[in-house]
Amino acid sequence: MESKTLGRQFFGSQQFCFSFRHTAIFDNFILLTLDKETANYIVTYFSHLLTEKEKLAVRHSSSIIKIESGDKTTNLVSLTKIYKERGWLTDDQTVLDLLKDGCDNFELKTAQRILKDYGDKVFLNNCPKCGKLARTPRAKFCRHCGHDWHEK
Ligand SMILES: [Zn+2]
Repeated sequence: MESKTLGRQFFGSQQFCFSFRHTAIFDNFILLTLDKETANYIVTYFSHLLTEKEKLAVRHSSSIIKIESGDKTTNLVSLTKIYKERGWLTDDQTVLDLLKDGCDNFELKTAQRILKDYGDKVFLNNCPKCGKLARTPRAKFCRHCGHDWHEK
C-alpha cells in the first residue's frame, strides 16, 4: 500500500512536475532562462508578491512612461507635481536605486527574486503545444502558435 502511493508520487505526471518544481535544478533552470517577457508577466500578474518598495518602483516607472509619452503641450512641471502628490512618483532613494539599471533590468531582478522566494506560487501558463508563455495566467489561447485549449 505504502509503496504504491510512493510510486504514484514519483511517476504520476502531475506529482512529478510538482516535486521537480521544488528542486535546485529547476530553480537554476528557470532563473537562467528567464526572459524579459516572462519577467514582465510575473511582475504584472503576481504583483501581490512584490515588496512595498518594488510596488512603488513599478508605479514610479509606469508613471514616468505615462508622463514621457503624454501630450507634449502639457505642463510637465505641474504634471510631475500632481504625480508626486498622489504618490505615483517617489523620491525614495531605495526605490530609485531599484530602477537605476533601467526598467527591464528591474523587472528581471524582481521576477528572479519572486521565483526564488515564492516559486510555488507563480503559475507560468505555458502553451501545451509549443511550451511558450501565454499572455496571461488565464489565457487559453497561444499568441505564438495559435493553439486554443478552451474546453470544447
Ligand atoms: Zn503555442
